[in-house]
Amino acid sequence: MKILFLDQSGKPGGAELCLLDIAKTYQNNCLVALFSDGEFKQILQDSNVPVQIIPSQLIKISKKSNLFQGINSFTQIIPLITRIIPIARKYDLIYANTQKALVVGGIVSLCTHIPLVYHLHDILSYTHFSQTNIRLAVTLANHFSSLVIANSQASKNAFITSGGNTNLVKVVYNGFNPQKYQIGQSIAQKTRQELEVTNKFVVGHFSRIAPWKGQHILISALAKCPAQITAIIVGDALFGEREYFQQLHQQVAELGLEHRVKFLGFRHNIPQLMTACNLITHTSTSPEPFGRVIVEAMLCGKPVIAAKAGGAMELVKHGKTGFLVTPENTEELAQIITDCYHNPKNMIAIANQARTTASQNFHLNQINQQISQLLCQLKLGNHES
Ligand code: UDP
Repeated sequence: MKILFLDQSGKPGGAELCLLDIAKTYQNNCLVALFSDGEFKQILQDSNVPVQIIPSQLIKISKKSNLFQGINSFTQIIPLITRIIPIARKYDLIYANTQKALVVGGIVSLCTHIPLVYHLHDILSYTHFSQTNIRLAVTLANHFSSLVIANSQASKNAFITSGGNTNLVKVVYNGFNPQKYQIGQSIAQKTRQELEVTNKFVVGHFSRIAPWKGQHILISALAKCPAQITAIIVGDALFGEREYFQQLHQQVAELGLEHRVKFLGFRHNIPQLMTACNLITHTSTSPEPFGRVIVEAMLCGKPVIAAKAGGAMELVKHGKTGFLVTPENTEELAQIITDCYHNPKNMIAIANQARTTASQNFHLNQINQQISQLLCQLKLGNHES
């Protein structure tokens, strides 16, 4: 099966890193077409996944676009569509990995009769999307796609609540290679030395910098924790949230936490950094569609505290494989961080259980097999019709 993957982003967000792992299994029979140039192209090339940037105007539609902006953006995507149609004709399947890719892929599929799959990495709710965007995504998915792969039950439920066709949507979680997250203690120690946190209790936060990822929640909680506890904040403002980044620095200064918070920017060595931490926090203020960082922390054998909403609730069982806290509740978060600090031994059993569970439930081979089976069924159905 030859697959044309479409993704709007040149930057390596969670949806793109998930796509990378899927596309690798089709690397001799696929092309990843990106609507923007950027670091993600290099990451694909480094993994020997064929990639092509499809030159396009900057598509001005955003997650919050209204009807007028939506219609206006259609004129911007026409050249993109005309460039993709001849490419798509060489493939058996179009695999749209983002919302703009769904819009483009839907029209290309309509023109070429090549089946379309939509990988839904979002919770379609008003917290993140305008009504126009939700309607557009659901209508296109219902009418043009043969399959919608939702990255969690939470994403699936939101899709159906918004009018999505129940029969189209299947849940497949993100997959991970557990070996990649088995980092030796010597490397962890070296990383701690490099970070100058050798004798500290380190709480990690790994997300792109964005208000809804809630880095400010961790900083507030940290101010309520014992002074020995420090935090590393890993990630960059991938989608232009520079103002929020400035606010975080200001918050750190106002709380006098300059010596207890390190901003590390975007990093490629997440398993090493996670292993160097004592604890990982996930503090999203809105429901997380999946939450790759939660599973990654579990695979690193680190206790994880996650905000109790969305996909995170499918990944973590409170008190068994991690901790769930009320979103935005800094007191509760500070209390659990402090408990972990005082009773590190109690956390070992939870972290070990989390590692075992995550290795079983989110193993990349198993997840890729699920996707492959779904795609094969599609292709058969298409040939029969
Ligand atoms: N990530 C990374 N470098 C960073 C910060 C994050 O490689 O500096 C990765 C992280 O390991 C995870 C992904 O980016 O695999 C983020 O996915 P998640 O589902 O947590 O959030 P999203 O970006 O999709 O909202």
